[in-house]
Amino acid sequence: MINHHYYFSKVRLQLFYKSFLFSYKKGSILPPKYVIWDCTRRCNLDCKHCGAKNKTYHTELSTKQVKKLIKELVDYKVEYFTVTGGEPLIRKDLIEIFSYAKSNGLKTGLATNGFLVNNKNCKKIAEVFDSVQVSLDGTESIHNNIRGNPLAFQKAVNTIKLLRKYSCKQITVSSVFNPLNLNDFQNLASLVKKLHVDIWKIISVMPIGKISTDKSLYLDRKEFLRLLNLTNKYKKRYRGKPRIEFGENLGYLGKYDSSVRSEPFFCPVGFLSCCIGTNGIVRGCPEQPDIDSFQEGNILENNFSEIWEKGFKKYRELYYLRDSKCRKCKHRKECRGGCWVMRLDKIQCSTSRYSLNS
Ligand code: SF4
Ligand code: SF4
Repeated sequence: MINHHYYFSKVRLQLFYKSFLFSYKKGSILPPKYVIWDCTRRCNLDCKHCGAKNKTYHTELSTKQVKKLIKELVDYKVEYFTVTGGEPLIRKDLIEIFSYAKSNGLKTGLATNGFLVNNKNCKKIAEVFDSVQVSLDGTESIHNNIRGNPLAFQKAVNTIKLLRKYSCKQITVSSVFNPLNLNDFQNLASLVKKLHVDIWKIISVMPIGKISTDKSLYLDRKEFLRLLNLTNKYKKRYRGKPRIEFGENLGYLGKYDSSVRSEPFFCPVGFLSCCIGTNGIVRGCPEQPDIDSFQEGNILENNFSEIWEKGFKKYRELYYLRDSKCRKCKHRKECRGGCWVMRLDKIQCSTSRYSLNS
């Protein structure tokens, strides 16, 4: 079956990409559509695949600093301001900050494990955030094992039900697949359907952070192909209810890209989005480690617009073509060098790692 939406999006994306690069060469840059705030490294859970707790930052932006940033984003015509972590709801000022963002016209989003959502605060959360993403990595025992807490599943499911009760505009379930939960895919698919969420986002772990030293958490080729095939099967079965999306973190997927994605792979960093870290440092996305090569500036020292316009050179000047493998690759027009996180430490792109063309 031809994925028409995918091919229309591909044309739209190419037009956007070409016109962005054309304007960039002439010295004019559009503001980003999405700004993600990585608000804290603190977390109330200890997931097997996440290293948030291991990274301690001494500083977090103050309420006043974030409100100043929000004012700047509004003036610069950014559309979306979304928050991730750690667990964002650990910050006591989160609702105050996002009420301010919303009242200033920004569209807002929250990614949470759902543990701190309850009957008292959910109504406000559903009002303040246009979209809420809740993590759910399996049915009860599997989710609790991965998340390291016996109550994690019940809390996440209850959060989803409360968000529906309070008419949250868009609810997404995000599931990170690894060898511990791949066999639970079909059970989780049924659960997600029963919960009547809008989007089910399927992600596979990346071989970074904790995973780089624990290969048992990383899908091998056979397992990864199974994940792609299951995603495709349920996309057809559910026909958009919920809409199933495959996370972009694994880059271009060769011949599988159009069967598991609704929109073609595109790394939005430097073109459509960027991320502001706990300490005010601007980098490409939350998945990128906070290392020098990903840092573009600090909002505590420079205006956001200045950092956006002067930074992100390697993305806009197509540095991926300096890599001889990418330069000769037949997928380079669709892939554009893939995911920048996967390029770290010479991690192969998914098409090579999983031999997706054979
Ligand atoms: S070689 Fe480069 S352009 Fe080709 S698929 Fe891999 S990352 Fe993408
Ligand atoms: S660098 Fe990778 S994880 Fe980050 S936005 Fe790009 S594709 Fe996604």
